[in-house]
Amino acid sequence: MSATPLLDVQDLHKAFGGIAAVDGVSFRLARGELLAMIGPNGAGKSTCFNCINGQLQPDRGAVRLDGRDIAGFRPRAIWRLGVGRTFQVAATYASMTVAENVQVALLSRERQLLKWWPRAAAMHRVEALELLDQVGLRALADQPCSALAYGDIKTVELAVALANRPSLLLMDEPTAGMAPRERSALMILTRRLVKERGIGVLFTEHSMDVVFAHADRIMVLARGRLIAQGAPDEIRGNAEVAEVYLGSGRLHAGGLA
Ligand code: ADP
Ligand code: MG
Repeated sequence: MSATPLLDVQDLHKAFGGIAAVDGVSFRLARGELLAMIGPNGAGKSTCFNCINGQLQPDRGAVRLDGRDIAGFRPRAIWRLGVGRTFQVAATYASMTVAENVQVALLSRERQLLKWWPRAAAMHRVEALELLDQVGLRALADQPCSALAYGDIKTVELAVALANRPSLLLMDEPTAGMAPRERSALMILTRRLVKERGIGVLFTEHSMDVVFAHADRIMVLARGRLIAQGAPDEIRGNAEVAEVYLGSGRLHAGGLA
């Protein structure tokens, strides 16, 4: 007997002006699993993500979160059901402190429950500091985000995403713009936190080093279709995948080679 997967995408389709951007994509994601979605530019990765997070309405197909089909739900409703996201370009409030950014996220999560609660912000301060401790940023809690290095801002963003206690985290190029060492540190941290919490992660990533070092499983999209999925070693040895990357000139040392 198999348990209900955290995320179960079945036969997802999305076209723009008659051009199929996502063309019959099906995959599953388990709790605590880090699943990378890779593929050349234009393969349909962002479209696929946006059909899951509600930014786009799929033309057809199912997006089941914990068994419930959320395809076509509004982004806010999907967020409330526990789907968090981080963005390719970090989206924190520069003028607020690190702790305040996390407090706002915590307030946002509980607004329905706590709008009448005058001490909500004070309560959230304690919880925010705990969360910052877990991501290793406790010492920077009272710094404005504008004073932080980019790698630290991306880490704040991770804390902000975790504040909503997501069951599924969608990460769009989490390490974009970061130096190689920072990338590795952020992925190791992400991996530890999501494994501890049993959160499933779906991420896109340009750096093949990051993908092959940190993903549990990799799926490869090309022209809207899934051409391969499997463990990093299986994908590394897949001839069709190598061809897609060779064809786009993106095979490089440390990547699929
Ligand atoms: P990726 O993220 O893998 O680079 P995208 O999902 O952004 O790929 O794009 C897949 C295809 O869909 C591309 O051909 C792209 O031009 C097209 N596309 C994506 N978004 C839109 C849109 N809003 N309107 C029209 N075409 C789009
Ligand atoms: Mg994209």
